[in-house]
Amino acid sequence: MHGNETMASERYDVVVVGAGIAGSLAGLFCARSGFRTLIVERQLFPRHKVCGCCINGRALAILNDAGLAGCLQELMPTTTSSLAIRYAGKKLDIAMPQNIAVSRKSLDQCLLNEARKAGCDVVEQATATVVPSDASGISPADDFRTIFLKHRSQNPAATDVEASTSENRETKVCARVVLVCDGLGHPSLHLFPEFSSPPKRGSRIGLGAVIPRCDGDSWIPQGAVLMAISPQGYAGVVEIEDRQLNIAAAIDPSHLQQSRSACSSLISIFEAAGLPIPTHLGEAAVKGTIPLTRTASRVSGHRIFLLGDSTGYIEPFTGEGMAWAVSAARTVMPLVKTAINETWSQSLELSWETAFRTIVSGEQKVCRLLSAALRKPWLLTPVLTACRVFPSLTQHLVGRINRVPRALESV
Ligand SMILES: Cc1cc2nc3c(=O)[nH]c(=O)nc-3n(C[C@H](O)[C@H](O)[C@H](O)COP(=O)(O)OP(=O)(O)OC[C@H]3O[C@@H](n4cnc5c(N)ncnc54)[C@H](O)[C@@H]3O)c2cc1C
Repeated sequence: MHGNETMASERYDVVVVGAGIAGSLAGLFCARSGFRTLIVERQLFPRHKVCGCCINGRALAILNDAGLAGCLQELMPTTTSSLAIRYAGKKLDIAMPQNIAVSRKSLDQCLLNEARKAGCDVVEQATATVVPSDASGISPADDFRTIFLKHRSQNPAATDVEASTSENRETKVCARVVLVCDGLGHPSLHLFPEFSSPPKRGSRIGLGAVIPRCDGDSWIPQGAVLMAISPQGYAGVVEIEDRQLNIAAAIDPSHLQQSRSACSSLISIFEAAGLPIPTHLGEAAVKGTIPLTRTASRVSGHRIFLLGDSTGYIEPFTGEGMAWAVSAARTVMPLVKTAINETWSQSLELSWETAFRTIVSGEQKVCRLLSAALRKPWLLTPVLTACRVFPSLTQHLVGRINRVPRALESV
């Protein structure tokens, strides 16, 4: 356990499962609202997470509004203002609203630190499982939700014997509201078949790596997101803090199976796009994800709200994933307040289903369109030509995804 020690079956107002961008921001808002809040995270931070690392204008506006502009700047993010698309030796450069890029390792650690400072208890290296009411046997089913925590070794310096004794230690906590922010496939809800989010057939998977940028990589434009497209997938490259390159890709699983390794799968995307290979890509530690495209059948349940990727995802394009996650963290707060200060009612579940669909629906249409175009090589050339001939159409699509929320009422 990290930070404040948590007793078994301790009661919280809010338990947040997952310390990604959705979880840490939601935890921060809850603690600022005076709620006793626990964030449970499966991994030990800081950790690498497969992501393109581009924070769009919409996400940035919400993070700034939460008073986080200063700590974001301390991470020394880079800024980007264009998208450089490369496909079969062809080029298309699209101007974008100014975004920032920073590693998820630094960003997520920074947000978790801010949540701690605001008063959240944090448990790292613990896998949470939300328990169906009738299986909890701990509290009146209607008032609290029970969450089992399976702890892994707490001390990286522990001896083998110490590590194995602390492995699999289980505790339980309960909460008046559980915010499920555990990412793709929402593993903490595996005991709830009604929340299933199976991957769409033919869904692509994510691959990602961070490598140093060196002199031989001068062909990678600065101040731009480079997107290398091949029929089997696409890879985005952006410079992040400390002269590093973040590479994030969405590829067909069959392409990965046919390649010698995840690295060679990434390399072949650059080759197919007619680009050189980033110098250090060959020796990169590449991480992967489960299939990306999925939609949770519901995003709320009794004393449960789902936020961020746990609600589903399409494919990565221009920074919409983190924007949806932070929009959800902000928008859910009035419902959390009602649940804790007043009482739980089924109308809160319905309210979240409606509010959530409003946050994501417009942008998801654009992303589905782009996703379809990127999968069909015969469609890609006319789409890229249309983007070149009608730059205002391109700007409209980019603007839709980067839209800054009209009302940024504070939470
Ligand atoms: C290839 C790729 C590129 C992308 N590029 C971009 C981009 O450039 N810009 C952008 O905005 N978005 C991008 N995204 C999307 C973005 O990464 C996600 O939308 C965003 O990370 C969602 O945040 P989250 O907090 O919901 O989930 P996550 O960031 O996935 O965090 C979930 C956390 O929950 C933890 N967890 C999981 N299970 C449990 C459990 N049972 N108990 C406790 N903890 C648990 C995990 O360890 C993790 O830390 C990209 C995604 C991919 C795959």
